[in-house]
Amino acid sequence: MNNLFINGEWVESADKQQFDLINPATEEKISTLSFANGKDCHNAIDAAANAFKTWSRTTAYMRAEILKKAAAYMREHVDLLAKDMVTESGKPYAEAKGEWAVAANLFEWYAEEAKRAYGKIIPTNRPDKRSSVIWQSMGVIGVITAWNFPAYNPARAWAAALAAGCTVVAKPAENTPLSAFHIVHALVHAGLPKGVLNLLIGDAASIGDAMLGNPLLKKISFTGSTRVGKLLMDGASRTHTKLSLELGGNAPVLVFDDVDVATIAKAASIARFRNNGQVCIAPQRFYIHKNIYKEFAGLLTQYVSQLKVGSGFEEGVNVGPLITKKQRDSIVELLEKTKKEKGEILTGGQIPSHLSKGYFIQPAVVGGLDQSSSLARQEIFGPILPLFSFNDMDDAITKANDTEYGLAAFVFTNNLQTAIHVSERLEFGIVGINEWAPHGTESPFGGWKYSGQGHESGSEGLYEYMEKKLISIGGL
Ligand code: ADP
Repeated sequence: MNNLFINGEWVESADKQQFDLINPATEEKISTLSFANGKDCHNAIDAAANAFKTWSRTTAYMRAEILKKAAAYMREHVDLLAKDMVTESGKPYAEAKGEWAVAANLFEWYAEEAKRAYGKIIPTNRPDKRSSVIWQSMGVIGVITAWNFPAYNPARAWAAALAAGCTVVAKPAENTPLSAFHIVHALVHAGLPKGVLNLLIGDAASIGDAMLGNPLLKKISFTGSTRVGKLLMDGASRTHTKLSLELGGNAPVLVFDDVDVATIAKAASIARFRNNGQVCIAPQRFYIHKNIYKEFAGLLTQYVSQLKVGSGFEEGVNVGPLITKKQRDSIVELLEKTKKEKGEILTGGQIPSHLSKGYFIQPAVVGGLDQSSSLARQEIFGPILPLFSFNDMDDAITKANDTEYGLAAFVFTNNLQTAIHVSERLEFGIVGINEWAPHGTESPFGGWKYSGQGHESGSEGLYEYMEKKLISIGGL
């Protein structure tokens, strides 16, 4: 199968290795695909380095034409693209369709934003000297992405890097290559020159090492676990490869006692289980004010028990399968551990009896836990919602910040004082007040603490792929 895209051609891996792509809802084989390794990666980097010589000298206006055409292609073919995403990832069709709309928006937005990569003129302290600052394309970028958002994750980094005049060697997760193939097709259809974008599906460690070890590759943009992020930091310390890291999260949700309890509980039952909780900014640790804890827990349990689990193609399904058996096993194991930690499973956690194939599990709500429990300490990345309570604002903030992660946090209150004080004291890169989707194409997305470094989306995301240069003229 020729599914690696190197220097403008679909090719097999140099070592002819293959793997089977599995549908997580049926456990059936979708297809057999080539499995790349470090050798293919070096070939791709060579092609990207060669293409960089011309791509980096095109104007942002020329690049924008191509990126906007690719966005239009994604919009035009959204139904087919969404169906393939459901097949490879299991997520409900409506979520897949929404994700493709955002992927197209990212290409369009960066196409326009790169036109505004303004430099500046600096007034100097000498009459015979002039100083200016310009932004230039960084070079070949390695983009490694996770499977949870098969189009959004690659689109976010590829769109920014390509708009900035960089060339790309991309390695999406091997579980969800079909969406990545579609983005490549869209860009090729739009006229992207050969070598500007190269795609590898394959051996993560071998490709990661090749990226770190090849001096032609200037930066790795990584979306994935904190564990692999640390490995890349170790490697980069030897080779000086620059890094942007979008890693794990463990988002607190603070619900104060001035809200409409039923409304927030209902919305929480949807937000927590979007994409089965396999989301780095997923609301995870629910801290509920002690005055409303009982009412909130009762309503939430009722709403979550009504969520429909099944194939992403089925009408009315809220929650699809987890991505792999391994991922489901880890959730089952975590629930077992939680029981030993005196957690009380209020609903869910069982494998649905009517779904004999596929990596399904019923969304769970767990109460009776404290800060030392596994569900408070580790990133869950699955369909479990742990409930905790708090006494007052200080208690809520202390508990929310008591984590090594710092990606997203959520606050629900109708009190302006509470909203402002709490949002300013939370140690997270993204804070949502009275909303569940605090991110946006036009806004910076990045984590504090172990959740990463650098930003994606927004103008910040563009400058991750550009170098700042001071040009100083003397002797005038
Ligand atoms: P997740 O738990 O979301 O799968 P991972 O960090 O394991 O997160 O995977 C995210 C991406 O990183 C995937 O594309 C995966 O193949 C890749 N990856 C995994 N291990 C390594 C590694 N040692 N070096 C580089 N990339 C890796």
